[in-house]
Amino acid sequence: MTATVEQMHHAGKGQDAIKGLYIDGAWHQASDGGTTVVRCPADGREVAVVASSTIEDAEQAIGSARAAFDGGAWRRLTNIERGEVLLRVAGLLERDKAAYARAEALDTGKRLVEAEYDIDDIAACFRYYGKVAGLDAGRVIDTGRANAISRVIYEPLGVCALIAPWNYPLLQAAWKVAPALVAGNSFVLKPSELTPSTSILLMETLAEAGVPAGVANLVTGSGSRVGPPLSSDPRVDLVSLTGSLATGQTIMAAAAETVKRVAFELGGKNPNVVFADADWDAAVDNALTAVFLHSGQVCSAGARLVVEETIADRFVAEVVERAKRIRMGGPFDPDAETGPLISARHREQVHAYVQAGIAEGAELLCGGYIPDDGTLADGFFYPPTVLGNCRSGMSVLREESFGPVLTIETFRTETEAVAIANDTEYGLAGAVWTSDASKAQRVAGALRHGTVWINDYHPYVPQAEWGGFGKSGIGRELGSAGLNEYREAKHIWQNIQPAPSGWFGSSPDGTGAGPAE
Ligand code: NAD
Repeated sequence: MTATVEQMHHAGKGQDAIKGLYIDGAWHQASDGGTTVVRCPADGREVAVVASSTIEDAEQAIGSARAAFDGGAWRRLTNIERGEVLLRVAGLLERDKAAYARAEALDTGKRLVEAEYDIDDIAACFRYYGKVAGLDAGRVIDTGRANAISRVIYEPLGVCALIAPWNYPLLQAAWKVAPALVAGNSFVLKPSELTPSTSILLMETLAEAGVPAGVANLVTGSGSRVGPPLSSDPRVDLVSLTGSLATGQTIMAAAAETVKRVAFELGGKNPNVVFADADWDAAVDNALTAVFLHSGQVCSAGARLVVEETIADRFVAEVVERAKRIRMGGPFDPDAETGPLISARHREQVHAYVQAGIAEGAELLCGGYIPDDGTLADGFFYPPTVLGNCRSGMSVLREESFGPVLTIETFRTETEAVAIANDTEYGLAGAVWTSDASKAQRVAGALRHGTVWINDYHPYVPQAEWGGFGKSGIGRELGSAGLNEYREAKHIWQNIQPAPSGWFGSSPDGTGAGPAE
């Protein structure tokens, strides 16, 4: 393992220390020499300087992945052999957890402890796909005929473009890299331009674990510049994006020309439904973590509190009281409970979203301002914000803020609760809180969302599929469906007693039978 990105940058002056563009097993400078400075959103400190790739760089990375795939060194390994490499990756991630977590915390501004949880989850994802690799060799089909052997097997797709966001930079990348690799594909990974450091580290870990040169490639740079070749180049077979709805729509249009497969994990507008008979303390506490974890920069954030009218006033008052006490701070502040937003631009968008809600009639119950005090002034902090008096149709109920903003809606009946929870074009995740097990199952069954928690919020495991209904995405990550996104199914039929079919008239000797054996 080499040094952290921060160490790499500060250790070396000049171009040799600059990483980001990784093609055919080696680091390269951007073809125009361009670089980007990565800064920690908690205090603006410079974290790294990375290559800012050009279109030509992206095309070279695609060429490297294509040549590696066609060469076959990786795809011709057995599933078990590839699985063993992934298990080694998991072990190396655990060995180097401190360096990875520090790099992730500096890029995102999230608390170090949260970054450490992320690295555990990333290792678990590689371990899961490493273990399942050898378990699924396809299916033998009963054809109903004695003369035929029929099998369905799985093969890799080819070259995968894997495009990741900034909120959980390496975790979201790992959900793509691990299944893509174990299935036998080559890939070009493009992290967010705001958070490339752990993807840089991953390239070195993959090489150390035994992934051959050219199989894993990395391009760093802006999505608008290097994104288009990744989604339109005919040598790419699949584009997998975790990002915003708008980016998904752009990529889908670009991928149409070459009929690429697409796999999308997009936004969410997730309801957290609380019935009056819920466990009070657990529901209040989880209403906070549902939305304010990582300052709301979570695709599955429970940003819509949908609470039964009879308890709404008291429940919301308690949530607001506790939200006001949430302490913001940087990654290494031991007292911090949540971190900054990712950028000044994102904070402006979140603030404008809150202002629009207020202009439409929402009541500001807490937060809603840009802090200018003390150490927070150097970062892009935004306080936990609660908007009451929200009604269907308001922009704050339709649009994703991706910030620490909770809206309040109330309901009287179970039917109304379900209707409100499903009143969104997204469908990523949601929760229901009640002590009535039958009601919990009924409501969970009625919600049009890809993940539903009952009396909980946020947990997930790599064994279970993750993804969205509606405009929250296409396809699934994690679980067996997450592996199938990266595989072609092939049906192989073998007739073990070949004979003429007799479909078109007789055989030349007029017997209707084929030549004698
Ligand atoms: P984004 O769409 O701005 O960027 C995502 C990635 O796409 C980045 O790497 C970016 O550089 C790249 N990109 C941008 N334009 C591109 C183009 N034209 N072609 C190809 N790539 C392009 O999203 P973001 O701001 O990084 O992340 C936040 C969004 O991600 C939110 O909407 C959030 O809900 C979503 N998200 C979803 C999940 C999920 O599991 N469903 C998880 C995390 C984040």
